[in-house]
Amino acid sequence: MTVGADMDKKSKNKLRKKAAAAELRKNIEPMDKVNWSDSSKNSYAYESPVRNAYIDSAYRCTKCHQVAVFSAKAQKYTYEVKKSYICQYRTLCPECYYSLKNLVNMVNGFEELWAKENESTKHTAPYIIEWLDALQQFPKYGKKANQAIINMLNNHISKNS
Ligand SMILES: [Zn+2]
Repeated sequence: MTVGADMDKKSKNKLRKKAAAAELRKNIEPMDKVNWSDSSKNSYAYESPVRNAYIDSAYRCTKCHQVAVFSAKAQKYTYEVKKSYICQYRTLCPECYYSLKNLVNMVNGFEELWAKENESTKHTAPYIIEWLDALQQFPKYGKKANQAIINMLNNHISKNS
């Protein structure tokens, strides 16, 4: 065996050990399927004998591409307390999830303001551009943009300019 191949084998073993150690560090939580939602109970996962515990699960955020962990504890809470559907996984890291939440709150706030406007005050509403900008950010988070409101705002802008 050449020295190079030996080194390669050693570093491969090191990586394998590292991966095994990472597996051991993963937290595990018991799975109580009786607490699942009805739709989760109708899923394949309900019958699956291999789905019998929650294990820390790493994923890559679809917005910022950072690696995040959906912890075993958070999974238990999500599926057994919040009753989310069992096949629903996380796609955003915590930071991006909170900025999406802020975006949703912002848009809801603008909608409330808009509902209180009358035909004449609509012309001078100072938040139209900010609202439009917020709506256009949704696809970056893997969410659908509300095209109906975007169109309405664009019409409003072109009519008032
Ligand atoms: Zn992220």
